[in-house]
Amino acid sequence: MSDCLFCKIAAGEIPSNKVYEDDLVYAFYDIDPQAPTHFLVIPKAHIGSCGEITAENSAVMAHAFEVISQVTREMGITDFRVVSNCGPQAGQSVPHLHFHVLAGRDMTWPPG
Ligand code: 5GP
Ligand code: ZN
Repeated sequence: MSDCLFCKIAAGEIPSNKVYEDDLVYAFYDIDPQAPTHFLVIPKAHIGSCGEITAENSAVMAHAFEVISQVTREMGITDFRVVSNCGPQAGQSVPHLHFHVLAGRDMTWPPG
């Protein structure tokens, strides 16, 4: 999608602090971290949110979770939270599907 911030980050058109990259997904540190470790995992192909996952595009979600597991393991992180806000009322501010990975502090429940 031409006018999407995270499509541009995934394509390297806007700089980011890369955590991981392969053909399907891109991971990078959040510009406004909410925990000592806070990075985002996004599909390279544009999907607006979890609400747009279909039988045709869902394989990349399984891959994204493999990457989350691999990257956190390599970082030595055992306890972490994965969050995906879907829609403005849920707190989504960038309309390209992303998984927040947060770690390094105590987490509260329920989330705000
Ligand atoms: P959301 O609010 O949609 O759940 O999450 C979007 C996240 O993207 C926020 O945590 C925000 O800090 C992060 N973000 C927004 N713009 C940029 C950017 O240009 N670079 C990086 N690295 N993160 C961004
Ligand atoms: Zn996009």
